[in-house]
Amino acid sequence: MSWYHSSMYDPAVPVGSFWEEDAPPLAAGVDRGAFREGEATCEVAIIGGGYTGLSAALHLARDHHVDVRLLEAGPLGWGASGRNGGFCTLQPSGLGLGELISRFGKPETRRFISSQIEAVDLIQALARDEGIDYRPQGDGTLHVAHDEKRFQQLEEEVRLWRDSFGVQARLMRREEVAASQYDSTEQFGAAFNPVGFGLHPMRFARGLAAAAARHGAKLHGNSHVESWERHGGWHHLATEGGTLRARKVIAATNGFLRPALDRRLERRVVPVLSNIVVTRPLAEGERLAQKWRTERPCSNTRNLLFYYRMLPDKRFLFGARGDLTGRPEDGAAMRRWMERRLGEVFPAWAAVETTHYWRGFVCMTRRLTPSIAFMEDDRTALAVLAYHGDGVSAAPWAGRMAARLIVGTAEEADLPAPFRGEPGAIPFAALRRWYLRGALSYYRWTDL
Ligand SMILES: Cc1cc2nc3c(=O)[nH]c(=O)nc-3n(C[C@H](O)[C@H](O)[C@H](O)COP(=O)(O)OP(=O)(O)OC[C@H]3O[C@@H](n4cnc5c(N)ncnc54)[C@H](O)[C@@H]3O)c2cc1C
Repeated sequence: MSWYHSSMYDPAVPVGSFWEEDAPPLAAGVDRGAFREGEATCEVAIIGGGYTGLSAALHLARDHHVDVRLLEAGPLGWGASGRNGGFCTLQPSGLGLGELISRFGKPETRRFISSQIEAVDLIQALARDEGIDYRPQGDGTLHVAHDEKRFQQLEEEVRLWRDSFGVQARLMRREEVAASQYDSTEQFGAAFNPVGFGLHPMRFARGLAAAAARHGAKLHGNSHVESWERHGGWHHLATEGGTLRARKVIAATNGFLRPALDRRLERRVVPVLSNIVVTRPLAEGERLAQKWRTERPCSNTRNLLFYYRMLPDKRFLFGARGDLTGRPEDGAAMRRWMERRLGEVFPAWAAVETTHYWRGFVCMTRRLTPSIAFMEDDRTALAVLAYHGDGVSAAPWAGRMAARLIVGTAEEADLPAPFRGEPGAIPFAALRRWYLRGALSYYRWTDL
């Protein structure tokens, strides 16, 4: 049992995201429907149909000609991949640049950052090569100081991007941001990073699924894997409609992993809720009341960050982390809190109604970095997860690495150190909810 409310895992409960409404449905035949074949076999089975799983399926089928099947509990893209903010950015980690360098050293941190620049390029290459209409938006991203003191932090961040990683980041003073990007009560200057952009997450997820199916991957939505056992060189993945046997398995469940699938792995991750509200489209005058002129995705320097962007049809998307229960009534309270905070940060929009609210899990670990690792040294089972809330570009890249590792064309040494190895065990994992409660209170306090 997860500590979150069961509705968070139930595909029958509507997600309510704007993206679902705004994306064309999957073409017929891409999703073969629930796995109902009683018994079937394949070379590689993938559990989870988000960016990680779909990218692994696409690359296995297209580049390695592997007989691959994917089992997804909900519709394809139902997890975080179809409902995120669409910020395609660098650095899938809970550690800052300086912390990454002190933990992993400069050469490995450089490899990590280079891999993630490659990950952003991969999104564009996939869209181009596979004809995915992913609606890219903005030339770079903004990291915005939410108070005066945090602006100094950004100076150091920009220096590291430029001097250590060759990324042409640039500091923008408060007046420059106000004149060319936007203004708000929590805008005290920004770091501009030229790598990254915004995209339509569900269009991208469905586009990946269509590409994977076109190249021969067999994708099964609505196929919850209830148990996973290993006998005689086969993995047995039991679903309501039968058991899929596979020689190798990639677990790509990220924050939606539940103990019944793999208790040991589940106790090594911390699912955290991220929430989004979207407003009705804003008229030009309304946008200019906050001097809004940018298409760049923005996040701020709060530990419990706010992230926001103007969507192509001029709806404003505003995101925040929080709520430790997943109960519907706590979701409703979270929505009210976010609407209030949106109005405080952007006073001209305080009375603008939101049309959508939704939420989903991001995945954290104790070491605060993502993980691509063979499980307990079993070379036939790979777990790929924990992007710490930044998986839009990292997950497709990790899915491609997973494909290479499972067929043996890449080795673990090819991974930058922050990705290597399973997440560490969390002491007294049953207390994770309480650890999170403590962390949230601490962050709220330090964000003041
Ligand atoms: C509200 C929100 C906003 C976000 N915003 C951003 C953003 O702007 N930028 C960014 O970089 N990242 C963002 N993220 C994070 C990003 O979406 C994820 O890191 C990324 O989508 C992870 O992809 P994934 O395929 O690994 O996992 P997911 O997309 O979560 O997919 C995992 C899938 O596994 C399935 N599954 C789990 N257990 C089973 C089982 N037993 N059997 C079958 N299927 C199973 C689930 O149903 C789920 O669909 C956000 C996340 C959320 C929730």
